[in-house]
Amino acid sequence: MKEATHDLVVIGAGPGGYVAAIRAAQLGLDVACIEKEPALGGTCLRVGCIPSKALLEASERYVEARGSLKRFGVKVSGVELDLGAMQRHRERTVKALTQGVAGLLKKNAITRYAGHGRLDGPGVVIVDGEDTHKISCQRVILATGSVPSTLPGVEFDGEHIVGSTEALEWREVPEHLVVIGAGYIGLELGSVWARLGSKVTVLEYLDRILPGMDGETAKQAQRLFKKQGLQFVLRAKVTGASVKDGKVTVQADGSDPIECDRLLVAVGRRPSTEGLGLDSVGIETDERGRIVIDEHWKTSVDGVYAIGDVVRGPMLAHKAEEEGVACVEALVEGYGHVNYDAIPGIVYTHPEIASVGKTEEQLKDSATPYKVGKFPFMANGRAKALAETDGQVKILAHAETDRILGAHVIGPRAGDLIAELVVAMEFGASAEDVARSSHAHPTLAEVVKEAALAVHGRTLNI
Ligand code: NAD
Repeated sequence: MKEATHDLVVIGAGPGGYVAAIRAAQLGLDVACIEKEPALGGTCLRVGCIPSKALLEASERYVEARGSLKRFGVKVSGVELDLGAMQRHRERTVKALTQGVAGLLKKNAITRYAGHGRLDGPGVVIVDGEDTHKISCQRVILATGSVPSTLPGVEFDGEHIVGSTEALEWREVPEHLVVIGAGYIGLELGSVWARLGSKVTVLEYLDRILPGMDGETAKQAQRLFKKQGLQFVLRAKVTGASVKDGKVTVQADGSDPIECDRLLVAVGRRPSTEGLGLDSVGIETDERGRIVIDEHWKTSVDGVYAIGDVVRGPMLAHKAEEEGVACVEALVEGYGHVNYDAIPGIVYTHPEIASVGKTEEQLKDSATPYKVGKFPFMANGRAKALAETDGQVKILAHAETDRILGAHVIGPRAGDLIAELVVAMEFGASAEDVARSSHAHPTLAEVVKEAALAVHGRTLNI
């Protein structure tokens, strides 16, 4: 066993872990980062956000080439799908970015350990890899992320019944894909395969899609996805799935049994803490298996911190990054902060759906007085020129103070447009602040300005 000493050990090199390691190195600590996968970057870079975006972009181009470019007077003939080449685009994208993370660790003089990291009593971390390392350290950050959940009676077999990792890698377009769960993954990957030619049926337990997002926005999204060919069965509680002769039969209360070629289970993720040695130091977890932390990301044990999907809050890469930076700043400088009210959530479908802050439902539930301002992309010059007129920007502001409490965008480049509203919320801006800021013409961002004007009933272009 090889022995080493570092100031800080980060277990996990996903967006939370590698960013925490970089920030700690910037602040002068001697940092080690442990990763069990050969490629760095975690679920997000290897098998999540990045590869799914590569396929979402590529499949959208296919749809455009097959027909929707016609509206611009561009006729394309002989369009064929080369799924192998599309998958190589995904692989190249992932490779470039995961290698980039390795470069970043090197640049910041962070020691990288390859293998499975685990706590082994106070101040000790063991790395089980090709070599075994025993690392002594003052502080540890656990950033081990999450793994896909499944349902009772539905077992992953890696081929017919799968999670998102396998559903990114298919080399043939399934004839009929059933997706369980109308959340982020179900809608993004459901969209990819529907665009490439699959019949896609989405089974959702609740009576709506995208739970947690603004209800009106989710309804609009469902209408648009239906037009794109996605079929939804709501209030469908999946009770089991079995595979016979290469076909999957899905059983659900609220639906007849459905036969399909592939079943994607996208019902959420659970914290990844297996084999992490939490018991060796007595770290507490909650009823959902998440590591319990205080407001400075400290676990129940001194010197051990946890961030990202393995703790409470939305399982989003950028939330993990913010926590990684703030956790390190808190432990080195004594102060670090994440504004959980201003973490955006984006579904990268077509159109995109982006959200920050409170939904209308949450404001009603908390009896907060609010005003709504909405503006449709239909009335925006740039959206017309792009032939992307579906959707709207909706801004929720406090009825008395005018402070922006939430914003919900469905439409072209919603994921980019929401950034302005996130910054506005970080600065405690009012709807009027946004309305009085100059927005270049002609841009999609003018829809944000108009929605802010709409809060006070004074839109200019409708
Ligand atoms: P999710 O929580 O977004 O959606 C899960 C869906 O499954 C919900 O609609 C839920 O009601 C439904 N469901 C749960 N049990 C069910 C059952 N028995 N039958 C039918 N439906 C059921 O989870 P996800 O889509 O699996 O994504 C996992 C995590 O990954 C999420 O936390 C998300 O934040 C993250 N993610 C984010 C992005 C992004 O930022 N664009 C993309 C992919 C994944």
